[in-house]
Amino acid sequence: MNEERKIAYFSMEIGLEAAMPTYSGGLGILAGDTILSAADLRVPMVAVSLLHRKGYFYQRLAEDGTQIEEPVAWNPDDFTQEMPQRVAVSIEGRTVQVRAWKFEVKGAGGFVVPVYFLDTDLEDNAEEDRILTQYLYGLDKHYRLCQEVVLGIGGVRMLRALGYDAIKRFHMNEGHASLLTLELLDERIRAKDDKTMTTEDLAAVREQCVFTTHTPVAAGHDQFDMELAGRVLGPHEAFAMEGVFCCNGTMNMTYLALNLSHYVNGVAKKHGQVSRQMFEGYKIDAITNGIHNRWVSESMQALYDRHIPGWREDNFSLRYALSIPCQEVTAAHAAAKRELINKVNRQTNLGFDMDVLTLGFARRSTTYKRADLLFGNPDRLRRLAKDIGPFQLVYSGKAHPQDHEGKALIKRIFAASRELRDSIKIAYLPNYEMTIARQIVAGVDVWLNTPQPPMEASGTSGMKAAMNGVPSLSVLDGWWIEGCIEDATGWAIGQNHRHGHDQVDPSKDAEDLYCKLEHVIGLYYNEPSKFCSIMQHAIALNGSFFNTQRMMQQYVLKAYYL
Ligand SMILES: *Cc1c(COP(=O)(O)O)cnc(C)c1O
Repeated sequence: MNEERKIAYFSMEIGLEAAMPTYSGGLGILAGDTILSAADLRVPMVAVSLLHRKGYFYQRLAEDGTQIEEPVAWNPDDFTQEMPQRVAVSIEGRTVQVRAWKFEVKGAGGFVVPVYFLDTDLEDNAEEDRILTQYLYGLDKHYRLCQEVVLGIGGVRMLRALGYDAIKRFHMNEGHASLLTLELLDERIRAKDDKTMTTEDLAAVREQCVFTTHTPVAAGHDQFDMELAGRVLGPHEAFAMEGVFCCNGTMNMTYLALNLSHYVNGVAKKHGQVSRQMFEGYKIDAITNGIHNRWVSESMQALYDRHIPGWREDNFSLRYALSIPCQEVTAAHAAAKRELINKVNRQTNLGFDMDVLTLGFARRSTTYKRADLLFGNPDRLRRLAKDIGPFQLVYSGKAHPQDHEGKALIKRIFAASRELRDSIKIAYLPNYEMTIARQIVAGVDVWLNTPQPPMEASGTSGMKAAMNGVPSLSVLDGWWIEGCIEDATGWAIGQNHRHGHDQVDPSKDAEDLYCKLEHVIGLYYNEPSKFCSIMQHAIALNGSFFNTQRMMQQYVLKAYYL
């Protein structure tokens, strides 16, 4: 069975179950959806990540929106099974033992993709090494590099120890796993009598590797001083290879993966272009992200089961949503909305109303996502609610513990909520995670997204909304450039982004947002059949395409070619 696995998927975070805090945001959710679709499609994959014993963090929010972070308490053995194998990696000359916990992802037809979560919390290890698999994106650069040693090098060794000997492709989901290239190179060198490294070895490693980049901002790419890299990893002849392992005194994990992969892609068409500009001279393709149908609410699932049998096995058939009667689409969505409104009211006591247009905005709280773009002109918002029609807003999202501006953003939304209380209800649900995400994307009427172009590589929550029949009102960036058909699948904020003219004046986006919002409110209250048609098209045009089933098929054909 292990011999049949041909694809190894490596990701620093993987979101599989809400109660397993092994992810922080979009990257991990995408990894989870990818693995689920691989299981559905019987792609012979195995996946590797770190255990994250203390998770990312549990978020509490004070009265004024101040974020309080706590370690997440969870028991890995409630979800996973400990494997007997042990492997070792070397960190700063110390031997660090690594074990793995197996989680089995079952596809729709019962096919299993095993996911191994690596763990260094073993008695034999030094105290500082035992904590290496505790915090996702925690502590400092040194900690991160050590984690990447465990993931990349430890991950390959663990797969070998588990008997995965037929792996043809190693897929790095972002640069955190790039050190796996070093281990693949070392495997070849160790197998030779003279222990030398040649350009053929590099070519052979390249043939095995696939790299997906996710970040259109230079600062988002992991890099380490060569001095730190040398100290943690020990001396290696590869480090002398300027332009492969080392660029200007740093080990840049993105360049490492770019140099040692035969196939590289960005995560939306626009992100492919942006990446080609950022990394000149590299061949970079694009495979647009998707989502798995696990994000569809129970009521919408039941609706599709009635009208589109087999839609789970064949997401493309969601195109037939156009022929589902409008009343049924609206009724199924209303059931999901009821659940969300009940939850919001239980949790916040804000008195959200079923009949009021509800907008959702939930994602990591970080500056470029501009969660506060809507609040630039509170009087304008009040007038919209009074003159055109009422609306209410649901927010949620965590800020990285070191992202002070992201934390300030949450406080600004709390402040806006207080300020606008007389005319617009604004709820902020704490501790954003998968369960809340699913309830919000399915239960709101319109999904709001306001990133600063071109910073949103893809974005996926709007895709989750679409598969639930919820149209997006979004800045044209990431996937929305491909998914937006005005007044048919949703609405664009700032038309000009589509042609690569990235908006520099945020006030223009704010102005455009108010205009479009006015249009959407009018449509919602005055033209319900038009609004329903847009819901149907969100499912038929976007749900049928922006899914990980289509995405996985593209990876198989373009990157894995099994
Ligand atoms: C889908 C999802 C994300 C990613 O959202 P974006 O649209 O990429 O910002 C982040 N966190 C959770 C919990 C999610 O479910």
